[in-house]
Amino acid sequence: MKKEKIVYLDNNATTKVALEVAREMKPFFTDLYGNPSSMHYFGGKVQKYSDIARSKVANLLGAKPEEIIFTSCGTESDSTAIFSAIKINPQKKHIITTSVEHPGVLNVCRYLESSKGYKITYLKVDTEGRISLDELKNAINEHTAIISIMWANNETGVVFPVEEAAKIAKSRNVLFHTDAVQAAGKIPIDLKNSKIDMLSISGHKIHAPKGIGVLYVRKGIMFSPFLLGGHQEKGRRAGTENVPYIVGLGRAAELAEKNLKKENSYVKKLRDKLEQGVLKTIENVRINGGRAERLPNTSNISFEYVEGESILMFLSEKGICASSGSACTSGSLDPSHVLLSMRVPLTFAHGSIRFSFSVYNTEEDVDFVLKELPAIIKKLRVISPFSDAKSPSG
Ligand SMILES: *Cc1c(COP(=O)(O)O)cnc(C)c1O
Repeated sequence: MKKEKIVYLDNNATTKVALEVAREMKPFFTDLYGNPSSMHYFGGKVQKYSDIARSKVANLLGAKPEEIIFTSCGTESDSTAIFSAIKINPQKKHIITTSVEHPGVLNVCRYLESSKGYKITYLKVDTEGRISLDELKNAINEHTAIISIMWANNETGVVFPVEEAAKIAKSRNVLFHTDAVQAAGKIPIDLKNSKIDMLSISGHKIHAPKGIGVLYVRKGIMFSPFLLGGHQEKGRRAGTENVPYIVGLGRAAELAEKNLKKENSYVKKLRDKLEQGVLKTIENVRINGGRAERLPNTSNISFEYVEGESILMFLSEKGICASSGSACTSGSLDPSHVLLSMRVPLTFAHGSIRFSFSVYNTEEDVDFVLKELPAIIKKLRVISPFSDAKSPSG
């Protein structure tokens, strides 16, 4: 494969596998390929490494190793959490979530709503993308089986007060799940001192490979598995363990925990430099969720009167990878459900780009975007049928 220069600013879609992670995984494909469930020495040795990885993931989350279940992805973790809650509460037919969840939660709720007779409360967000805890309090009733609220939004980076929300859930005796796929490794998570019952993370958002995830399940809560079969993961997730990926995720979690503070101030500096540069050189832009508490690595910027897809195409020609909304909803021409929920005006919402950083980005990456982007926006505004109605700019 020819190696081209790319400026990769789509780290909320997926991240590069860290070299240390890939290195640590390798022997588990070629030498240590035993099945951890086997009774013999070879299997036991593999089991030992998977237990070490479990402890490392637990460490990142402030959890106990036995509270960690390895799954195939963040999406499986989300499904498992919600289906567990409704299976152990078969008489409760109400779920509370938000209108801006990842499809991994949103589409499970929509399915239960349209096909299984569930009533779903989708908490609204304000124009900065924030939820209201009062709205949450008012939505809970005696039929509520579970509350699922993401920790941080994948499109805008807006962080939700999930610790507070979990306390409210606990005080009303309702299970609380959070999709922390974007929060893990980016902001501190400490489940020891929290009321969160279940939490999802995904390997490929924290420099481990695609196809491995975790569901944290608080010790002592009732749980019903999603996959049925063998006794793996203490009977909570059947299927032979993906040991190489588990080992990789363990290493990634360890790196994330060790470097969290340092990396976050680093990516925040890059992100803020990009936003300040854009605001200075391009007119009619808005930073979505810019006044809310946000992840340090995420920037969602709307450019009025241009199509996000066109911006992406021109950026891509220059080797710059970004995203319009989420990877999971792109391909459709509708503006993102997140930006629509925030009531971003349509002339802006259509021209929204998400830039998401990782520790592998550099100042030169930002400089390169700031050099190329103003001309791209200017060019697109010249051909936009709407832009000359108002001040053409950029
Ligand atoms: C990426 C993502 C997921 C899905 O994780 P997969 O491992 O790709 O299934 C779920 N929730 C959020 C917030 C995400 O960003």
